[in-house]
Amino acid sequence: MKKYVTEKSEAQWKEVLSPTQYTVLREKGTERAFTGEYYDNHEVGTYACAGCGAELFRSDAKYDSGCGWPSFFQPKDAAMVEEHSDISHGMRRTEVLCAGCGGHLGHVFDDGPRPTGLRYCINSASIKLVKA
Ligand code: FE
Repeated sequence: MKKYVTEKSEAQWKEVLSPTQYTVLREKGTERAFTGEYYDNHEVGTYACAGCGAELFRSDAKYDSGCGWPSFFQPKDAAMVEEHSDISHGMRRTEVLCAGCGGHLGHVFDDGPRPTGLRYCINSASIKLVKA
């Protein structure tokens, strides 16, 4: 098993995360589209991992994709996220995880805007906006 900077037992994660955060981050759940806290948020700041606080995305890379989840065209730093092949649910996707704790964030797709052409489709429950 890969070691992360922040590691906790499942019981410890349940203590520090809300049930929704736990489902997304630790059980790879997906919040329903257009229900999360941040899909329509335009405030300036940095989005940190709700599990470990690692700074993952900046608001200036956030854009309105219309998909119902917060969408970013790039992470704050490529080293902040891990990308794994995901063939669950009959789809071939690329899962995005926090490099600080291994928490599930969402998926990345190649239908994003310039300059990267990427869409990091991220669950609101996995992140926390730290306002600038
Ligand atoms: Fe994390």
